[in-house]
Amino acid sequence: MSTPITVAYGDGIGPEIMEATLKILMEGGAKLDIETIQIGEELYKMGFSSGFDKDAWNSINRTKVLLKAPITTPQGGGYKSLNVTLRKSLGLYANVRPCRSYHPFVETDHPKMDLVVVRENEEDLYAGIEYRLSANTYESLKLITKQGSEKICRYAFEYAVKNGRKKVSCFVKDNIMKMADGAFHNAFKEVAKEYPQIETDSHIIDIACARLATRPEMFDVIVTENLYGDIISDIAAEISGSVGLAGSSNIGDKAAMFEAIHGSAPDIAGKGIANPSGILLGAIQMLTHIGQPEAATAIHNALLKTIEDGVHTGDIYKEGISKKHVGTEEFTKAVVENMGEKPQKFSAVEYKPAAKKAATENKLTTLSTVKPEIRGIDVFIGWGEDTESLAAKISGIKTANLTLGILDFRGLKVWPKGEGTPDVEKGEIFRARFRSPKAIEAAETIELLGKLSEAGIAIAQTATTYMYGEEKGYSLAQGE
Ligand code: NAD
Repeated sequence: MSTPITVAYGDGIGPEIMEATLKILMEGGAKLDIETIQIGEELYKMGFSSGFDKDAWNSINRTKVLLKAPITTPQGGGYKSLNVTLRKSLGLYANVRPCRSYHPFVETDHPKMDLVVVRENEEDLYAGIEYRLSANTYESLKLITKQGSEKICRYAFEYAVKNGRKKVSCFVKDNIMKMADGAFHNAFKEVAKEYPQIETDSHIIDIACARLATRPEMFDVIVTENLYGDIISDIAAEISGSVGLAGSSNIGDKAAMFEAIHGSAPDIAGKGIANPSGILLGAIQMLTHIGQPEAATAIHNALLKTIEDGVHTGDIYKEGISKKHVGTEEFTKAVVENMGEKPQKFSAVEYKPAAKKAATENKLTTLSTVKPEIRGIDVFIGWGEDTESLAAKISGIKTANLTLGILDFRGLKVWPKGEGTPDVEKGEIFRARFRSPKAIEAAETIELLGKLSEAGIAIAQTATTYMYGEEKGYSLAQGE
């Protein structure tokens, strides 16, 4: 029985490496019923700002499995990243990126490196919610939910258990983003309690990157937010030997997408020299996902044998280590010829039929149901002059319960003035925090906004401030 899948040949080196991959899949005994779709550059040029059309969607929704070569994302402009849209529209919440070294056959400073990055795939700054608050001020919203954080952390622990991994490390920046990254970190700690057999640790993302780049062997499974995961998986792949060596899967409850972690490499497109290993490893993950572990095993072992034979594309070729410098086609031929063979130096892989989904996998334990109370409103105000003139203009504006508490500029309190408060001469965007000593109705915040507006204040953005029981639903300004 063949499994229907959707295939996108992508842009740049995409068609070359996809053709190579499909050839290897067929020779390796994969049973696939392939539907091809056109997405990416061609579609952008035809005026589809999302990079895909209805036919592509219909196919993906029918097969629920997409094998996708890299897509060129136009920078800036009105284009949305097709990759991000696909991941979010299909609910592909987990991005799994294994990165290992192929020492001594591929040059690397990290011979013992063998880690997996599990990246949250739908939230964070990739929500792509951005505003221009004033002529010169821009904002990107970072959205983190308890649900999303718990789901990805649970996925990472389940992955560790199913794949014989020993440790899960959490990378966050909750010393600065105490609420958003704090929520992710808390979800990690809560979920970890359910997996006592798995060792855990947590790292602040900056030092974590330094450790990853110099001592990657200290990591096993890493779970992290979307942006951090994007960055660290490229670092991990590159230091393992080449960014062209890593594949990735994007897993959701209803669909899945498999790809290389690298991009469309326009600098080498059409030259026949690209390494197809990344997308091939993505395709191997796909085979295990659709229940074809035998083909996955045969193909992965043939790939390992080819690499240890020293048959290398230019990105990993090194005089004295490699035996033969090949292009994409010759590399593909070598993998096909090695089908049925096992690597001699690397450990051979053996995939098993996927275990049934554990009942715990969709459990949510960290959700809060506490009822919020409105305790104020933050008003972002466009103001081209100094702090004192703004304070003079709005400090008298109030309602029965709301009065101006502080003004801040880029998160730093600038009014009322105290020891060390800096002078801001031309702020452009100030935040005015109006506070109430007790819970109020939303109507009162709207009354305040009306008064500000009547006074000629330019309101760029507002945020209601809540208390969740004893907990503040907002961060304090620096110096508040
Ligand atoms: P890139 O990953 O395409 O290339 C970075 C470098 O690595 C280049 O020098 C390239 O030649 C090399 N390289 C990449 N893959 C290789 C391979 N298989 N074999 C040999 N060398 C390889 O990154 P970029 O240049 O920053 O991005 C190019 C385009 O790809 C951009 O439009 C970007 O938005 C897009 N992109 C797409 C995806 C995706 O579709 N999932 C991911 C990342 C980037």
